[in-house]
Amino acid sequence: MARNPRRKGRDGWKQSKSRGKPSFVTCECCGGKVPRHKAIPWTQGFRITDPVVRQAVDDRYVHTFSRKVYYCPKCARFLGIRKPKRR
Ligand SMILES: [Zn+2]
Repeated sequence: MARNPRRKGRDGWKQSKSRGKPSFVTCECCGGKVPRHKAIPWTQGFRITDPVVRQAVDDRYVHTFSRKVYYCPKCARFLGIRKPKRR
């Protein structure tokens, strides 16, 4: 009976690919803006290799030191960062 006039047929409600915000990230190396899907995520941070120190320092505390950064493909190649494999 009373159909919603907004809905035209089955798929009147298409979800657009981009949701308004284009997600850009800043390349850590050159400072340029790279689209997120192109950027290579890299965890930068310091890893404690010494087991003695590692025990002394709380793991969570260590975790705070690492931060995720992004590189543009150019810089990633330049720095020798491998791109994660994609299907
Ligand atoms: Zn870069």
